[in-house]
Amino acid sequence: MRIDILTIFPDMFSGFLSDSIVKRAQEKGKAEIVLHNIRDFSTDKFKRVDDYSYGHGAGMVMKAEPVARWIEHLQSERDYDEIIFMSPDGKVFQQNIANHLSTMENIILLCGHYKGVDERIREKYITMELSIGDYVLSGGELAAAVVTDAIVRLLPGVLGNESSALTDSFQNGLLSAPVYTRPYEWRGMKVPDILLSGNEKLIDEWNAEQALRRTRERRPDLLD
Ligand code: SAH
Repeated sequence: MRIDILTIFPDMFSGFLSDSIVKRAQEKGKAEIVLHNIRDFSTDKFKRVDDYSYGHGAGMVMKAEPVARWIEHLQSERDYDEIIFMSPDGKVFQQNIANHLSTMENIILLCGHYKGVDERIREKYITMELSIGDYVLSGGELAAAVVTDAIVRLLPGVLGNESSALTDSFQNGLLSAPVYTRPYEWRGMKVPDILLSGNEKLIDEWNAEQALRRTRERRPDLLD
């Protein structure tokens, strides 16, 4: 899968792309994540990508032309399944959307900054708008990183069996059961004996019960 990220701050992604699972996914050739600096397509001699907003006025707005040029340039090279704008007024990003996006071939993530991007970009090119939650960030970069991570770890062959995404929270509509590792006894606290019983059926039942209990206690809304 290929993810093209349009941003005015590509350096914000460097640590995120070069560590952990996202790094491994790229090394294994499962994910190609390409950063593009919107400023490269600025038409302004000072390379400006923002301008004053019309109307009520407080704050700067990202100009349409450099973003449009990038999108059209990328579209001339390949077809995109979705062109996604990161935005607090978008649909709230959830596991089912990550699952869906992980089946795509090519997507674009557009990161806003300042007050956002000129509305006409959204009207003309954007096919999906995603928010990572009800709060406002300074830019779409962290949001795009969140979405990228959530998608990439689902691509077949990225996670080993030992950390299969299928047993994570939300995949079956529930939170995940608690997890333990060695030592069996740590500072007087023991691992539930059933997990050492070797009886797979009982262990599965315990996990299912715990997941349900946890969900009922912490996120009853998921059970509705
Ligand atoms: N004026 C906008 C907020 C702009 S914040 C409003 O009130 O809705 C600047 C940029 O940060 C946005 O264009 C968006 O790309 C990004 N951003 C901020 N909060 C976000 C969130 N919760 N989810 C996704 N992107 C967000």
